[in-house]
Amino acid sequence: MNDTGRLIADTGIVPKKSKGQNFLTDDRVADRHIGYAGIRKEDRVLEVGPGLGILTKRLVEASDNVTCIEIDDILAEYITKEYGDRLNLIHADAVKEPFPEFDVFVSNLPYSVSTPIIFKLLEYNFRTAVVMVQKEFADRMVAMVGIPDYSRLTVNLFYKAECEIMENVPASRFNPKPKVDSALVKITPRKAPFEVLDEKTFFKVTEVTFNHRRKKIGTSLKSARMMESGDDVPYIDERVEMLSAAQIGEIADAVYRLKHPEL
Ligand code: SAM
Repeated sequence: MNDTGRLIADTGIVPKKSKGQNFLTDDRVADRHIGYAGIRKEDRVLEVGPGLGILTKRLVEASDNVTCIEIDDILAEYITKEYGDRLNLIHADAVKEPFPEFDVFVSNLPYSVSTPIIFKLLEYNFRTAVVMVQKEFADRMVAMVGIPDYSRLTVNLFYKAECEIMENVPASRFNPKPKVDSALVKITPRKAPFEVLDEKTFFKVTEVTFNHRRKKIGTSLKSARMMESGDDVPYIDERVEMLSAAQIGEIADAVYRLKHPEL
C-alpha cells in the first residue's frame, strides 16, 4: 500500500465523489506539480483542497506562507494535526470563502467545483497557478476557436491569462481511481491581448452567447435584452463558437455603446 492508501485507512476517510475526493498517489507527479509552480520562499501560496496533504507537504517546504482551504471535516482536522504549525488552514467551502491574497495557487481541483474555482481565481491578482483538472476540462481551458471544446471558459481564460497543459496524468495515479484521465495546467496571468471598453460587458456577452452556442449572436443578444433588431452590432448572423475572443470583444464594445451613445 502506498502512502495515500495508508492515509485513507488511517484517517478513516470514506472518499466522496460529491467532494471530488480522488487523492493523488504518485509522488513524482506531486513533485512536478509543485515544480511547475516555481515557488519562491517568500511567496504567499494558496492551496484549495489539501486532502491528505501530498501537495501540502511539499508546499510547506517550498514556502513559509501557505494557506489551505479544505471543506471536509476529517481532512481539515488531519491537515491541522499534521501541518497546523506550518500553514494556515481555513476550514470552509472554497467557492464561498473569499481567498486571502496570494502569489501562487496550487490545487488538485475537486471536479465538482473546478469551473467556479477557476472563474473565482481569475478575479484575483497572482503570478502563477498550477491546477490538476480532468483532461476534458483542460482541453476546454486551452481550446482553439471553431472546435467543440471552445467555450466560455476558454474565452475568459484567454482574456486574462496564458494557459498551458504541462502533462497528462492517467486515472491510475489516483485513489480511488476516477473514470477519466487528468492533466496539469499552468495559468499565467498577463495583460489582455486586446482592449474592450468595459470588461463586465465583455464577460456578460461571452456568457450569454455561449449559453446558446448554436444560436446566432443576434438571437442570443436580443433574448438577453442586450440589443434590439436594427441595432448596429457586428457578427449578429454568426455563431459564437466561430468567433475569436477579440471578435467577441468587438461585439461587447458595440453592445456597450448602445447603452452609452455619448461614447
Ligand atoms: N490535494 C489532495 C491530492 O492532491 O491528493 C486532494 C485533492 S482531491 C481531488 C480534492 C480535495 O478538495 C479534497 O480534499 C476535498 O475534500 C476538497 N474539496 C472538495 N470540495 C471543496 C470545496 N468546495 N472547498 C474546499 N475544498 C474542497
